Amino acid sequence: MDALPIKIRSLTKTYGSIYALKSVDLNINSGEFLTLLGPSGSGKTTLLMAVAGFSRPDAGSVLFGEKEMVLSPPHKRDVGMVFQNYALFPHMTVAENIAFPLKLRKIKPKEQADQVNAALATVQLTDYSKRKIDQLSGGQRQRVALARAFVFKPRILLMDEPLAALDKKLREQMQIELKQLHRQLGVTTVYVTHDQREALTMSDRVAVINEGEIIQIGTPEQIYSNPKNSFVADFIGESTILPLTPNNRGDLCYSDSILYSAKPEFNNKNWALVIRPERLFPISNSENPKTSITFEGKIMEFVFQGESTLGIIQLPNSDQLTIRISPTIAASFTDFKTGQTIMVGLNHNDKILIPAN
Ligand code: ADP
Ligand code: MG
Repeated sequence: MDALPIKIRSLTKTYGSIYALKSVDLNINSGEFLTLLGPSGSGKTTLLMAVAGFSRPDAGSVLFGEKEMVLSPPHKRDVGMVFQNYALFPHMTVAENIAFPLKLRKIKPKEQADQVNAALATVQLTDYSKRKIDQLSGGQRQRVALARAFVFKPRILLMDEPLAALDKKLREQMQIELKQLHRQLGVTTVYVTHDQREALTMSDRVAVINEGEIIQIGTPEQIYSNPKNSFVADFIGESTILPLTPNNRGDLCYSDSILYSAKPEFNNKNWALVIRPERLFPISNSENPKTSITFEGKIMEFVFQGESTLGIIQLPNSDQLTIRISPTIAASFTDFKTGQTIMVGLNHNDKILIPAN
């Protein structure tokens, strides 16, 4: 069966006086892996449950393809769902759990067995088919929940923080496995997480949600390199946000440097510069830094973190910059020590402009 696109229109859901969703519009392409990324309480589960049919919105529309689904019960939507707590049946075996949606759909026993075996093979649990759920590790349970969600070949797969209970190493391994599985199944997938790195790792596109509203949607690269406001810049990746001031010509400046030449849209609004720590680079005294923006300041902290070294730099005006460089580069600069003064540069291409709060 072909994957289905999902169109969400003006979806609103309130709990008493709380708006869990505020007129959400969202298009999910057929076959796409879209992640809803937002902090706890931002409305991710509410939105997913409205797509699955477990929660009835106050207003708005959920279309699968061209078909309005907003009033259909979950079993009529034919959507595969992985819940945060897996919701497996503890008294059943692995195979029985995975067969459950097939039984509901009254698939013939022979076909059931074939499809369960195929799903077991896909999640690499063939040898565990007769085990009870409580005899499995967290990662194995997660795979059972996943197999149960896709065994009946749904055209839409929904996952609500499916890896949250796993430890970091297994979680990162499963992220790659889920991505590969999605490629294999080609099913339209909506994935929920509060983990920005997980969202960047797995998704075709990420929709950043906060307080019931979609703030920004785009590919991981777009969201990361072009955050639309300080919430997105702060929530995704690390960032330093510096306030910019206009000069009398309307250029946007940081201390003495003009960073952006005047534009009409700069008027009557405050602007800020976002700097990603890994885009800053150290400049030695002998180098000519004219082609980049430079900052000079005092190293407050220098921390070796394994794959990278993190520095906190205090600028003369008391703003702080965060820089992240490879340990090899850090080692080659002998003046990278707490208390030293250093110069760092940022290429003009790496500047990010956002409205200031
Ligand atoms: P997330 O999944 O992003 O953590 P939720 O969708 O669960 O967020 O919740 C969004 C908002 O709606 C929160 O403020 C939450 O407290 C509220 N909420 C969710 N479910 C209920 C409920 N059953 N009753 C009352 N408030 C709820
Ligand atoms: Mg949730």
